[in-house]
Amino acid sequence: MSLEWLARHAGVKQSACLAVDAESNMLVGIAAYGVASDDIELFSWPLSDTYDPLIGALQSPRPVPFRSYRPNGHAAPTPLGRGAFTAIPLGMRGGNVGERQDLAPGLLLLRAPAISADINWLVMVLGQKIDQVRGRGSLAEEARKLRRERTLFFTIINAVTDPIMLTDIEGKLIVANARAEKLFAASEEESEGRRRAVELNNMLFSAALSRSAVEGNPEARELLLVDPSDGSDLLFEVLSTAVEDPREGTGVVSVLRNITDLRRATEQIEENYQKLRVAEAAVRAERDRLNLIIDSVADPIIVTDATGATVMMNSPAEDLFTVVAGASEAASRTVQANDAHFSSFISGLLLGETGPGEIRRGEIGLMNPGTSEPIPVEAIAGKVLTETGELTAVVTILHDRREALERARLYEQLKAASDELQARVQAATAELATQNELLRRQAIELEQASRLKSQFLANMSHEFRTPLNAILGYTHMLLQGVAGDLLPAVKRQLQRIDSNGRHLMTIINEILDITRIEAGKMPMQLSEFNLNELVPEVMTELDPVISRSKLTVAPRLWPDLPTIYSDRQKVKQIIVNLLSNALKFTHEGGIRITVAYSPAERTASVAVADTGIGISPENHEKIFEDFRQVDDSPSRQYGGTGLGLAICRRLATALGGRITLESTMGVGSTFTLTIPVETEQ
Ligand code: ADP
Repeated sequence: MSLEWLARHAGVKQSACLAVDAESNMLVGIAAYGVASDDIELFSWPLSDTYDPLIGALQSPRPVPFRSYRPNGHAAPTPLGRGAFTAIPLGMRGGNVGERQDLAPGLLLLRAPAISADINWLVMVLGQKIDQVRGRGSLAEEARKLRRERTLFFTIINAVTDPIMLTDIEGKLIVANARAEKLFAASEEESEGRRRAVELNNMLFSAALSRSAVEGNPEARELLLVDPSDGSDLLFEVLSTAVEDPREGTGVVSVLRNITDLRRATEQIEENYQKLRVAEAAVRAERDRLNLIIDSVADPIIVTDATGATVMMNSPAEDLFTVVAGASEAASRTVQANDAHFSSFISGLLLGETGPGEIRRGEIGLMNPGTSEPIPVEAIAGKVLTETGELTAVVTILHDRREALERARLYEQLKAASDELQARVQAATAELATQNELLRRQAIELEQASRLKSQFLANMSHEFRTPLNAILGYTHMLLQGVAGDLLPAVKRQLQRIDSNGRHLMTIINEILDITRIEAGKMPMQLSEFNLNELVPEVMTELDPVISRSKLTVAPRLWPDLPTIYSDRQKVKQIIVNLLSNALKFTHEGGIRITVAYSPAERTASVAVADTGIGISPENHEKIFEDFRQVDDSPSRQYGGTGLGLAICRRLATALGGRITLESTMGVGSTFTLTIPVETEQ
């Protein structure tokens, strides 16, 4: 206070007061103005160092000027630093030289333009004061004690991680611990952002203080501040208490507790609690669904816990494992037996060290408590494990095997029957194969026989023709009168020989034809010809017969008929045959020969229609068979071999064509030859 007074009245910007501590024999700092308080508080120098200029000044009768230059390297550092200053021994009265011989009680160091009267007065007063204090006790001891207490006080409050501070009622900082200083104090050198944050924190804190003052609520309240180091939000709980100090007046001690993490943790707990609630609801729903499923399954299902105690079972399982009220003694025993069987089955699963997917299967012989009827069941048990692999439950499904056993029995029966059937089919197939083989051999034999017959007939016909030709030749020569004139009776006999000979020749030729066809020795001679020309040619050839018959034969040709590519000789033979038959079996009326062409089918046809005796429907097919005649009695009216139509049909087939018949008894018959315009070789 004295030094402050000095600053105000004498314009001394920097000053310090040092005193001699007799006990420790040291010169120590006790007060300063315009100097860092630590510098003065920590200052002490032994009095024994008489060479030190400061110690020397104590003995000086007048003020000692110090220059900035300090020649003695061991000299004490002064609280005023290195610049020039003046050291005035205390107790000195305005320049009284030699007034006192002993050591001054202290020194006043100052930087002042000149030593004024005010300074001299203060030097004297301070000297008296220190002398007085000395009388009461050790000044240095007091100062040290004070320093120790102060240091202890700051050590204690700095050790607290929560910001602690003493403010005036407006919130202006008086004392603060290190943590509080970080939030509420910033020097000029610090960054702009940091200073702003500190400013904001101060504002927020003052506002909170005034609010609590207005509301008169000393209770804890929350305060949101900014961390000046990183700008993050910090939530504090503020505990403020008003303190009364006789010197400083009313102040407020505030302790701020960081509850940012606490708040976060609270929120997290709240969130987790909500999640838990949702999960709980889901589990409940899941369990309800599970119950529904378990109850709707017809097979007994039992859920047991890790100790093997039953937790849940559906009604089919209840029928087997629970005693109903009023049940007979026997029924209770059966239930107990069932229980024992089931327990021994799952005990294996409970004891075994098994993985989560493990399923245990086994057969248990249970009994129906109601009927005492045995029920063979297949038990399938699976473990339910927690995420950490702890066993929570075992679910067992019992499947009644009676139906399966019955099915297996039926299946065996069916299989036996099927095997027998298969064996029979195999035997029958083998028999059939033997028969087939036999038939095949017979067919080969028959074919060989047939070929031999055809060969024989062909040979024989040839052999017949040679002598017959000779007979016919000689008969013809005799009839021509080569051997002289013939008597009329001889001529008639010879004519009969000729007629019968020719007939025989026809028969032999026809037999030869059919055997050739049968033997496959009827070669095809394909050429192009005009069917419109072939029909008149046939008519010319049969002209003698036509003239004799007195029937009209009318050809109807097809204009623009395409050229036919086929075996001309064979087509002619068929038409000759059909016309001969028509002439033979028609007595009155006429015969119509119609040529036609079908562009769609690429076929040409020749139809020979007569007004003859007709053929009954049952004979329509028969007349095409070998040697078949409608009238085959010995006394038949019409001659012939019955081979003509058989040959015609074979020839037509060989040309790729066909012969069809339409006939009504007593009205007439129409035979139609149809052949392709082009016969393939
Ligand atoms: P055949 O040499 O006996 O004439 P075909 O094979 O030519 O032998 O004829 C077989 C039989 O078919 C004849 O005997 C006859 O009964 C009957 N037949 C053939 N053509 C006619 C026809 N135009 N009218 C009535 N019957 C016929």
